[in-house]
Amino acid sequence: MAGKSGAEAAVDETTEPAPRKTTARTPAAKKSAAKKTSTPRRSAKSAVTDLPVLEKEDPWTPEELAEVRTELEADRERLQAEVDEAEADLAELMRDSGEGSGDDQADAGAATWEREHELSLTNNAKELLEQIEHALERIDEGTYGVCESCGNAIGKMRLQAFPRATLCLTCKQKQERR
Ligand SMILES: [Zn+2]
Repeated sequence: MAGKSGAEAAVDETTEPAPRKTTARTPAAKKSAAKKTSTPRRSAKSAVTDLPVLEKEDPWTPEELAEVRTELEADRERLQAEVDEAEADLAELMRDSGEGSGDDQADAGAATWEREHELSLTNNAKELLEQIEHALERIDEGTYGVCESCGNAIGKMRLQAFPRATLCLTCKQKQERR
């Protein structure tokens, strides 16, 4: 589209432009135009979503996205249960160790190991949970599938295999080489 000022500057007597009719808009015309643009927004069940995919991939369909979401939600539920259980175990271990049973060093060592083991499991599960929450947020925001490092598409196939992925394969490999 030609810039307004540019078009005006180019006007001289010999090259008179055709009368402009686009600017002549009556209030009534404006009103009906506004009405037209307020047609229902992209309905929820469009054929495909506009999430990024790799060049050779087909766009995400709402069904495919729903599948990934369901998987993430199931994982979240499972992990949350794991974390809850581990934290209950941990609380128990803490309580036991606090009950003056420190006479046996081997027992104390085993208890410590168990507690630390439980703690690292909990932390792993928590980290996974965070990644899952993050992926679900990205689905809600419509940014799912964008590499968080380079901004390219992560790839549908990769996400279907690893729904929590936030990096494209190239960036992931770069990160792993570090
Ligand atoms: Zn990337």
